[in-house]
Amino acid sequence: MKRTGILFFPAFDWSLGESHPEREERLLYTQEQLFEEGILDLPQIKQYSPRVATLHQGLRTQAIFPNPGSYKDSLDPHLIAAGSAILLGEARVRGDIANGFVLARPPGHHSGATVWGNRGFCTLNYEAILVNHLRARFGIKKIAIVDTDVHHGDGTQDIFYHDPNVLFISLHQDGRTIYPGTGFVNEKGGPNAWDQTLNIPLPPGTGDEGYLYVLENWVLPRLKAFAPELIINSAGQDNHFTDPLGAMKLTANGYGRITELLRPDLAVLEGGYSIEGALPYVNLAILLALAGEDYHHVHEPQKQDSPALSLAALKPYFEALKHQHQTIQPRFTSQSKTYFPKGKWIYNPHSIYYDTEGFQETRHDYIRECSECGGTVYIESSLSSQKSGLVRIPFQACSACEQAGYDLWDHLHHHSADNANGLLQNQLHDKLTVWNKKEGLSEF
Ligand SMILES: [Zn+2]
Ligand SMILES: [Zn+2]
Repeated sequence: MKRTGILFFPAFDWSLGESHPEREERLLYTQEQLFEEGILDLPQIKQYSPRVATLHQGLRTQAIFPNPGSYKDSLDPHLIAAGSAILLGEARVRGDIANGFVLARPPGHHSGATVWGNRGFCTLNYEAILVNHLRARFGIKKIAIVDTDVHHGDGTQDIFYHDPNVLFISLHQDGRTIYPGTGFVNEKGGPNAWDQTLNIPLPPGTGDEGYLYVLENWVLPRLKAFAPELIINSAGQDNHFTDPLGAMKLTANGYGRITELLRPDLAVLEGGYSIEGALPYVNLAILLALAGEDYHHVHEPQKQDSPALSLAALKPYFEALKHQHQTIQPRFTSQSKTYFPKGKWIYNPHSIYYDTEGFQETRHDYIRECSECGGTVYIESSLSSQKSGLVRIPFQACSACEQAGYDLWDHLHHHSADNANGLLQNQLHDKLTVWNKKEGLSEF
């Protein structure tokens, strides 16, 4: 029988403050609604209990740096949310379920390749951790992540920016009008993964009609061309017209239709802060769509007080955006240091603001240009006087990139300053090595 897996993890112990929009009630009202509707009694719904992810599973994808100055946030709830995504992902790959919905919190898609603390309510990136777990454990090669949260999935983009085998698509409210201020069409991927990142910023006021138009005329054809083995949906419900953080106009029915068209193997809850007015109904519609049930009777109690942007108004914007996307040419700067292994290294300096913590991370990213694999990545990351390094040897690395990764790693832990630490993510052999001056090297 075709089954839809569902997993709740409301994270009772975790919040950013009692009146903060990211709190446990986000899931409790949904749970109640699903219970009232008798959804959990449907024969095709299979409920799972949360499971905790290991540190290995987290570090395989993200460099979690020790930061004594950070918000005192335990990793535990984040590891449980990540482990829950992995649990349902494994159930999907094994064929125990046809699809699934992970209803966990806090969200995760603003958390990137390097982690010094919480940003945008996120500490670990569950979809990314899940994707790399399924690749390492089951040898799955091509996976697509479609992020439908109102905010740009900048963390997920950061993690897969150089990965030719992960297609990342983010539809979101235009970054000029909302956090985190990124996600423009010119962000198309690194030198070895050009055009594997697709950002579609949408104007405030976009509703069901506009959203579905973009899905049918851009997202779905792009997905079809990529032909992924799995589709993961970062399902943010903050596009709903009642959401206090977003300015979009989606309805519960619109979300149901998006899910029906996207046909994700797994949906993982991201944002959504209209706790009573939207979340229970949006989550219900998504779940019904996943389970192949009619969702058209699901209606949120509130009515829209102003109409959504018309399709006639959206179409010229959409055509201009598509044209802009097609005409953008890759422009990369090459730069390397004296000790870098041979090859052409693309350099990308940037900084990342942690809004929850109020500090700024400085990043110097170097990527080995390679036509045979995703290319080894070397990242120098610093937070005030603390310095950390990440070396990533990618899945299916070619031998030159693998060797380059080992050479860089050798240099990193032999020549770094006293307060430095580092992580070698050897995704090729699924081995992780952590180094710091005090304790030396340790394997994970
Ligand atoms: Zn969001
Ligand atoms: Zn290579």
